[in-house]
Amino acid sequence: MADIADVVIIGAGASGAAFAWSMAETKMRIVCLEQGDWNNPADFPATRRDAEARNGGDWAISPNRRQRVTDYPIAEDASCIKVANFNGVGGGTVLYGAHTPRFHPSDFRVKSLDGVAEDWPIDYATLAPFYDLNDRMMGISGLAGDPAYPPKTVPMPPLPMGRSSEIVGRGFNKLGWHWWPSDSTIASTDYDGRPPCINLGLCTAGCAQGAKGSTDITYWPKAIRAGVELRTRCRVREITIGPDGMATGVIYYDADGIEHFQPAHIVVMACNGIGTPRILLNSKSERFPNGLANSSDQLGRNLMFHPYVSIFGWFHDELDGERGPDNAMWSHQFYETDTTRGFTRGFIWEFSRGQGTAATAIDGLQTGTIPWGPAHHEAYRRYHRRGTGLGAILEDLPEPNNRVTLDPTLTDSNGIPAPHIAYTLSDNSRRMIDFAIARGTEVLKAAGAYAVESEGPLPYGGWHLMGTARMGRNPQTSVVNEWGRAHDVKNLFVIDGSLFVTSAGVNPTPTIQALALYIADTMKQRLATLFE
Ligand SMILES: Cc1cc2nc3c(=O)[nH]c(=O)nc-3n(C[C@H](O)[C@H](O)[C@H](O)COP(=O)(O)OP(=O)(O)OC[C@H]3O[C@@H](n4cnc5c(N)ncnc54)[C@H](O)[C@@H]3O)c2cc1C
Ligand code: SF4
Repeated sequence: MADIADVVIIGAGASGAAFAWSMAETKMRIVCLEQGDWNNPADFPATRRDAEARNGGDWAISPNRRQRVTDYPIAEDASCIKVANFNGVGGGTVLYGAHTPRFHPSDFRVKSLDGVAEDWPIDYATLAPFYDLNDRMMGISGLAGDPAYPPKTVPMPPLPMGRSSEIVGRGFNKLGWHWWPSDSTIASTDYDGRPPCINLGLCTAGCAQGAKGSTDITYWPKAIRAGVELRTRCRVREITIGPDGMATGVIYYDADGIEHFQPAHIVVMACNGIGTPRILLNSKSERFPNGLANSSDQLGRNLMFHPYVSIFGWFHDELDGERGPDNAMWSHQFYETDTTRGFTRGFIWEFSRGQGTAATAIDGLQTGTIPWGPAHHEAYRRYHRRGTGLGAILEDLPEPNNRVTLDPTLTDSNGIPAPHIAYTLSDNSRRMIDFAIARGTEVLKAAGAYAVESEGPLPYGGWHLMGTARMGRNPQTSVVNEWGRAHDVKNLFVIDGSLFVTSAGVNPTPTIQALALYIADTMKQRLATLFE
């Protein structure tokens, strides 16, 4: 049997890395089990000419399409939004767009302010020092002084706007609406051993330049140097429980499919909003017949995705196309609730860049705007690098029937049941989608677009996975307490996106990582009394 670990962390993504690094200073024996591999940046698509094609293959954002041996399948026919993730060291941060806004203070109090969902058991002020710490560790570029937020500092200057954001910014100016350079975990200068962004594009298929702050190059090297053991190709099947109801360790499979048991004093779930409920639901015992830490029946429920709306305009001028980071600007104009709009809460707009060379051709053929035949080249020239627009990230309110369960038949290559997703778009989201499209069309026309297209929600836009093991003070309505500890099992913690009580209307990763750092900090302070 393996030596007992003080702490075993499952998952080496955004939250697992931040937590491991923070806990390393305790000098406890910390082991992280990750089902995927390390990445070799030389393999990233941006280093080859077939980059765009590989985006739809072995580097696809959908695990069901990617189908690597390190992925697990997801049964998602009952969901209008499909999951996007990455399974390997760095987790979703390897493929993410690195657009990293914080929550607004109001996001923690939506029940009090707007009478919907629940308030969080913690507030913005609690997380603020951990947001700051995470900004430094991940390396954030941006511009301090955004009136949408309480004051904060930003370690690096903002990314260049590029032609695309400049033209869209002019549209916002005409309407007098808010916009500001985004916070992005993309280096705009040399930073902590990372070179600056060189506008390679394709950030969402891995950054070969190393400018994008994925946790395999930010937290992990530091955590490992400080003594954390990261074991790759280890896929956890279940958490085991002793007669006293405490977690005793985890059962996992190695790359050869051989089963192991890793005993541990503390078990920490960092498998994301889908992977964490999946493994806890699969950890059934006489004491917990419906899954571990699930006496409330809340585990797997309240799945939130952020319905994502694309509003794209065509311009006569040449813009950036795919060259440059996906998003470098944002607008919080419609973020807070205004009931005259017909929905509760709101959304952020991220300015998107443009389409790649192959994507322009494929989309043009699909929509009929770029036909085959004599008119082809002329039509292609009219569209190539002449489009840009906005992505709206809508606040998704928690609903118990939007949930993760275990699929009765589908399994991964180790025979572990696959997650089954059921998700329906709410009426509030539908009304918000219509509003975001109408206002987004207005702003792109003001910017000079001669045609505007929109789509929402994006069917393959399930890249934000939240809410399925939410935190709260009431054990009947939440899975973990206000510092991430399972109400039912005193040595079991959740630190990933599953924790979210509400989704806010911004990308979630800085909040996920701030939460992981906050939970690590709380745990360090309470080590002597942790199991009381
Ligand atoms: C294409 C794309 C674009 C995105 N863009 C943005 C963005 O611009 N801004 C933003 O804030 N967020 C973005 N995200 C989301 C972001 O990646 C996630 O919010 C973040 O990575 C979630 O962190 P996490 O710690 O909850 O889980 P993850 O980072 O997903 O890590 C979970 C890890 O657990 C491992 N794991 C799961 N199950 C097991 C098991 N049974 N055994 C062992 N290991 C296991 C997985 O392999 C994975 O490595 C994007 C995501 C994608 C896919
Ligand atoms: S645009 Fe910048 S951050 Fe994105 S992949 Fe290229 S170098 Fe990396």
